Amino acid sequence: MKIVVQVRLFPDAAQHAALRATLDLCNEAANVASTQAYQRRVFAKQSLQRLTYGQLEDMGLSAQPAIHVARKVSGAYATLTANIQAGNLGKPGSKRRQAAEGRPIRFRRDAAQPFDDRCLSWQLAARTVSIWTVAGRSGPIRFGCSDQQHALLLAHRRGESDLVRRDGKWFLYATCDIPDAPTKEPDGFLGVDLGIVNLATDSDGRDYCGKATNRVRHRNQRLRAKLQAIGTKSAKRLLKKRRRKESRFAADTNHRIAKSIVTEAERTGRGIALEDLGGIRDRVRLRRPQRVTLHSWAFHQLGQYIAYQAKRSAVAVVHVDPAYTSQGCSACGHVAKANRPNQSTFHCRSCGFAEHADRNAARNIAARGVTGWAAVSLPNAA
Ligand SMILES: [Zn+2]
Repeated sequence: MKIVVQVRLFPDAAQHAALRATLDLCNEAANVASTQAYQRRVFAKQSLQRLTYGQLEDMGLSAQPAIHVARKVSGAYATLTANIQAGNLGKPGSKRRQAAEGRPIRFRRDAAQPFDDRCLSWQLAARTVSIWTVAGRSGPIRFGCSDQQHALLLAHRRGESDLVRRDGKWFLYATCDIPDAPTKEPDGFLGVDLGIVNLATDSDGRDYCGKATNRVRHRNQRLRAKLQAIGTKSAKRLLKKRRRKESRFAADTNHRIAKSIVTEAERTGRGIALEDLGGIRDRVRLRRPQRVTLHSWAFHQLGQYIAYQAKRSAVAVVHVDPAYTSQGCSACGHVAKANRPNQSTFHCRSCGFAEHADRNAARNIAARGVTGWAAVSLPNAA
């Protein structure tokens, strides 16, 4: 399993200037390569490298960075294609899709640039790195990280690291490749229903902290509406900052919820059953979380965090068919719309079973987890 460890860099003034000039050059070069790719319809890694190599070299990029720039551009087009195929940019001919297809991909000056171990070396014990820059080798540059991140980097860091400038700070995103632990055979399943009022409800009846998050979300929604109405440049800047802050808050909340769900499953020797939210592939990221509602984005993120933390703890995860989990009775199996008189109530018209709607759904998901697990662990049964 690959995970990304983010560490903040603390360059001195000269190092900062060198990093800034390097990232500027790499992204200018990426835009040049992107225009070439777009005009010549050349998107494959190798061909794009051959096509643009001379030009990038003339711009002052040395061999390795030039290769990475071409690969980054090729990768960006592959992601765009995947997003289009997944329908994330709307139907053919829609405004968003035309805007995305009708011009070359542009890279912001702060866009991430990958560096391999030849161009970037880690001195983990000293907590410094040195990096190839347009001004020569720069370093040692100090970085900060938690002890847990440090241990991860020491044991599992492999391959490339991305240099990123975000909110006026420098970061490195390091890839760690963690060997998969064999999944423990589960003794039953903890079902998890992801929802709007309660972010998550499990089949034991625990709710995971919707209130505080919703309060923050509503307060932010009001604030955003106000700022949007003002519409000045500084209001827009503030708006962007609020959005970032809000998605950080949502990510923290999701981490906490995922952790307590996985801990509970681990403690009781069970697996986790989640609704299959449908085909979000690895490479298809929701590019602009602010375009979809923050909620739907946070919702997918919570599912991903649970799956990820479960994998790290060797807890089995089954994604189950979400159809009718909210209308079906977890006691007798009767499915009817009328079982759900309102958002929060489940009341079975057939057997009279009554329960909070999210808990009933979580129990259905848990039951489907058991049958789903039997299906995957006995491949000959089908
Ligand atoms: Zn019933």
